[in-house]
Amino acid sequence: LFITFEGGEAAGKSTQVNLLEKSLSNMGHKVIKTREPGGAPGAEALRNFLLFGPQDLSLRAEIMAHFSARCDHIDKTIQPALKEGKIVLCDRYYDSTSAYQGYGRAQGDPEILAFIEALKVQVRLMPNLTFYLHVPRTVAVARIKRRAHLTDRYESYDESYHQRVEEAFQSMALQEPKRFRTIDATGSIENIHSEILSEVSNLLHS
Ligand code: C5P
Repeated sequence: LFITFEGGEAAGKSTQVNLLEKSLSNMGHKVIKTREPGGAPGAEALRNFLLFGPQDLSLRAEIMAHFSARCDHIDKTIQPALKEGKIVLCDRYYDSTSAYQGYGRAQGDPEILAFIEALKVQVRLMPNLTFYLHVPRTVAVARIKRRAHLTDRYESYDESYHQRVEEAFQSMALQEPKRFRTIDATGSIENIHSEILSEVSNLLHS
């Protein structure tokens, strides 16, 4: 079972991935948590390049670097875990490339969207379930302001960029209702966790 978590900055994805991992392990499931970009040694090196490397990378090169990291991640981490019968929880995946590069950076340029789609077809592996953690941008901005960590280059993009990303996630979730679950991520950590856990339990028992 392959489950991904998507959403804009400060939606609380990593908190929820951690809580879900704990609950599922306590229930006796074999589970691993991982993230994108990254999730394997080579892919983590590419993450470092993507998040803190040169600002002037061409968009197509950036997209291919995300897919390059993804291939490494799939081949070295995700597929082996799935073969061992583990539940794989992943913080960001393909939908982030579509939202950030396709809609954030390329503003929905059909050629870039087609480029991303073509790479997706080659990569093949898609999640069984995707949680989209939605918080309005005003809430996200307030949360980000409270954070004290190093910001990566993407966080410096302007407000309309982040707005486009959020809207992209929303419309992707509407287009694929079978795979996506939209979660209102403004509520309490515990309530959000319960909602996510009950969706996963439903899937495990179906
Ligand atoms: O998951 P997290 O929010 O830590 O993501 C790290 C950064 O990578 C974010 O700033 C996000 O905007 C960026 N990112 C991106 N394109 C992707 C995946 C992540 O711009 N495909």
